[in-house]
Amino acid sequence: MPAKAKPPKPASPPKARMKAAETVSGACLCGGVVIEIDFPAFWAWHDHSEASRRAHGAAYATYAGCWKSKVRVVRGKTLVATFEDAERNHVRSFCSRCGTPLMLARGGSPKWLNVPRALFAGRIGREAKYHLAIGELQDWAYLGAPVGPLKGYPGVSIEKTRKPSRAKAGLFEP
Ligand SMILES: [Zn+2]
Repeated sequence: MPAKAKPPKPASPPKARMKAAETVSGACLCGGVVIEIDFPAFWAWHDHSEASRRAHGAAYATYAGCWKSKVRVVRGKTLVATFEDAERNHVRSFCSRCGTPLMLARGGSPKWLNVPRALFAGRIGREAKYHLAIGELQDWAYLGAPVGPLKGYPGVSIEKTRKPSRAKAGLFEP
């Protein structure tokens, strides 16, 4: 019996074009600048250093750390202003119209760009699990303690204290 002929191979499909990377975009407060990064971000981290604290006017900054080649300003390039922090070898970009921090380039890591996590309304594909300069965490930073409504002030919450008050603990007995 003759060997069974192999069925002809189906014509191979034309090579698929390289799939465009999935991207996510974020924007500054005024919406003038839109930044796009490839998804997922490489990593995400919290920066507790004094420089980022001041530059963001916040307890700490959280960044999406990305390869520079995977970050694009897709709108508002002319609005992007920079501040060169020579002391730290950092270049910080911000929106010249609304002041929103946009990018942090650290001289020691020239292939990386850090984009504030808060610019992105949606997911970036990475959880911020890493901390730099954690020793500088401020004692006034909110760390997620339970809160409840403040009576008489709609929209305002107050942290609930778990410790019994000193009076209840008997420290101020008459
Ligand atoms: Zn802006």
